Parts: sequence; structure tokens; C-alpha cells
Amino acid sequence: MHMYLEFSQQLNKILSGISNCIIIPHKNPDADALGSSMALYIFLSKLGKKTKIILPNSPPDYLDWMIKERSVISYENSPEKTRRYLLDSQIIFTLDFNSMKRIGALSKEIDNINRPLIMIDHHESPEKFSNLFLSKPEIGSTCEIVYNVMKSINDKLIDNEIATYIYSGILTDTGSFRYPLTTGDTHKIISELFKKGINHTKIHERIYDNFTFEKAHLLSVTLKNLKKIDNLGVVYTILKKEELEKYNFKKGDTEGFVNFGLRIQGILVSVIFIEQSGEDIIKISFRSKKNIDVNKFAKKYFNGGGHKNASGGFSNDSILETEKKFISSMNEFFGI
Ligand code: 5GP
Ligand code: MN
Repeated sequence: MHMYLEFSQQLNKILSGISNCIIIPHKNPDADALGSSMALYIFLSKLGKKTKIILPNSPPDYLDWMIKERSVISYENSPEKTRRYLLDSQIIFTLDFNSMKRIGALSKEIDNINRPLIMIDHHESPEKFSNLFLSKPEIGSTCEIVYNVMKSINDKLIDNEIATYIYSGILTDTGSFRYPLTTGDTHKIISELFKKGINHTKIHERIYDNFTFEKAHLLSVTLKNLKKIDNLGVVYTILKKEELEKYNFKKGDTEGFVNFGLRIQGILVSVIFIEQSGEDIIKISFRSKKNIDVNKFAKKYFNGGGHKNASGGFSNDSILETEKKFISSMNEFFGI
């Protein structure tokens, strides 16, 4: 709590001198990025600050319900408006990412206007791009950190809506309270959110029970394509462009698919390769259990990063080359 207090005091001091804020989460935002942004947005608005959220690109449809404010725009769809908002701003919050690379081309716009940056994040090895930062890799979600910051600034301003956003981010980034970074403190926060009147059943349904019929079929293809690297406890699956097109793939449709591999007995690493339509890259997601550090793996072999048990990266090679490189890298990584 000490660190939160110190950060919150510094933040309070900064806030007392300004009236216009911007909040930016990472590209392809998930419920933690959007939830922490929306929660902080409402909180800052209640403090009387004119606040806007700028998303690097549009969020997946299944998270549409999290955005019902006019003050959220995406750089991808509104570059001019983004520049205007940035010019009007006095400080910029960056939420749920540790490197400017994670917001794509929007990072250039931020370099251009040169405003103080305040970073709140829980990814390992943060780059030093901000003026004030709260980086806590030992915490399971950015929402948990933002909640503690808001609580130490003014607990009374945390309403049902803020609590709903915070719950959503904690829920998804802890894998529904099961990943190792879930703590008693996390559950204590959840209990405080219940006191704010959240409807947890409704939140779970909105986030998880949202499959389209096509998405269910895409999951069946994902599982059908599952392969195992013998002796390593590694499974992986590949979704090719044609398969994605056949099932009318939309951004976010494969969310959570990579986790299924970890349900298999003896499997400690699960990986999904998704060929991107339009772009010549293959997006990769890594998930692991126990001490297997897929953050290191993603960083070393696939231009990526993230957390110890959940990371991502990409490949510019063909599917075939990527698969070959992946198998040999895994063997090298496990010292075989
Ligand atoms: P996902 O597999 O859900 O896209 O991402 C899992 C985690 O890895 C997230 O915390 C995300 O921030 C991180 N991550 C995903 N893709 C990349 C990437 O290309 N680069 C880096 N540095 N981190 C990534
Ligand atoms: Mn997060």
C-alpha cells in the first residue's frame, strides 16, 4: 500500500494543476486495458478533469459493451481528432503496456506533442518512456493497480460503474482468479467491488458467453489442428487464413482459445499461431504453467514479450518456416 500512497500523492499534486487528461491503453485492447481506462476515465471526470480515451485501434466487438461514452475514440478511425485531443491535453496516462511499441503508430503522435506521461502497468521489464510511473509486475492486472490508486486518492468516488470495469479487468487477467498472481488482496478488492453493487454474473456472461455460431466452429478447428511436441509438454495449433475466412473471423474471435491446450494432462505450454489477413505476419500467443517463462521465450525468439505465463509475439516468416523455427526454438529453450 505504501507504494500506492506515494504514487497517488505525486499524482494528486500533478492533477491539482491541470484540467485536461488523455488515457491510452495498448493496441488490440483486452478487458484489462479497456476496464482500467474506462474506470480511470470516470474517476478523473468525477474529479472535474476533462478526459478523453484514445485507443490505438478499435476494440473487438465482444468488448463493445465496455465503451458507451462519447469521449472514447480510436486513432485508427480518427487520426485528425486524435491530434486535436492530444494538443488540448496536459498529461497522458498510458495504461496496461510497458513499451511504446505496444501502441503502434500512435506513439509517433505522442512524441510530436511532448506531454508528461504517467504510466500504470503490470508487465515485466518496463521501458522508461514516462515521467511518472507505477510498474507492478507482481500484480495480476492493471485494473487492480488502478483500483488501489483511485482508492488512495478518493474511495468515495468509486461507484458501481467503475467497480464493474475494474472487476472485468481483474476477472480476465487473472484467468477468472486462477493464475498465480491472484492473491488474497485481489479477493479483498473483489469483496469491496461487491459492496459497490456489481452484478458479477452479468459481467461473466458478457465477457465469456458471447460466442457466435461461427466462433464455436472456429474453436473446433483450433482443437482439431492441435499438435504436440513429444517429450516437452508443449502443444500448439495453427489457424490459417482460409480457415479464419471460412468461419467469418472477426477480431477477438480467438480470444481464450490458446488456454484450452493447458487443460491437457502433462501440458505446460500452449501456443496458437494465427495468420493475419491483410498483413504478412503471424500473430502468436503463448501460455504456460509453473516456472516456464514464455515471456523470455517470446522475447528471445518471436519479437514479443508479456508475462511469465502469458505472452505474445509475431513472425514474418511463412507458416511452415514459423512452425519449424518454433519447434527448434522450443527444443533449444528446454535445453534439448
Ligand atoms: P495475447 O496472447 O493475449 O495477445 O497477449 C498475452 C500477453 O502478452 C499480454 O499481456 C500482452 O501484453 C503480451 N503481448 C502480446 N503480444 C505481444 C507483442 O507482440 N509484444 C509484446 N511485447 N507483448 C505482447
Ligand atoms: Mn493487463
